[in-house]
Amino acid sequence: MKQIITLCCSTLFALTCWAQAGTIKGHIHDRLEQEGFYGVNVTLIGQNKTVLTDFNGDFILEDIPAGSYDLQFSFLGFPDTTLKAIQVAPDTVIDLQIDYPPPCRYDSNGSTCPVCQKSDQVIPIVFGYPGKKLMKYANKGKVMLGGCMVSYCDPNWYCKRDQTRF
Ligand SMILES: [Zn+2]
Repeated sequence: MKQIITLCCSTLFALTCWAQAGTIKGHIHDRLEQEGFYGVNVTLIGQNKTVLTDFNGDFILEDIPAGSYDLQFSFLGFPDTTLKAIQVAPDTVIDLQIDYPPPCRYDSNGSTCPVCQKSDQVIPIVFGYPGKKLMKYANKGKVMLGGCMVSYCDPNWYCKRDQTRF
């Protein structure tokens, strides 16, 4: 009987050793605050594994069967980012450095309208609660009031000719 138990144990041990899995760990850097990003959902697509980044912005996903995976990063109010086709090999650790959220599409735009390619009808968009002076400017069509809700990625300019925000 003792022999059988030993045999079982060693078989189990061998199976455990056989089921080699990989690890994905990483650090998410907050592009806006310049610090570790706490509380980002990190999801391994197709494996039902989700973890949150810790206070330092670090995360770790273990016991991942070898294969190719997409890794998704999400946080309320920011667009999702997905890293495609990460190759996980047995007994290896993949170490990722992620900048999050992704760059805002309005960041690099100058004051040239993307529609008419001119800037003569372009006025700045001002966010926040407007005072009297700002209201005056707005009524004269010198600035555009953008409202109070400001996300990390808002347009900066308004073309009066094309009624386009960019
Ligand atoms: Zn225009």
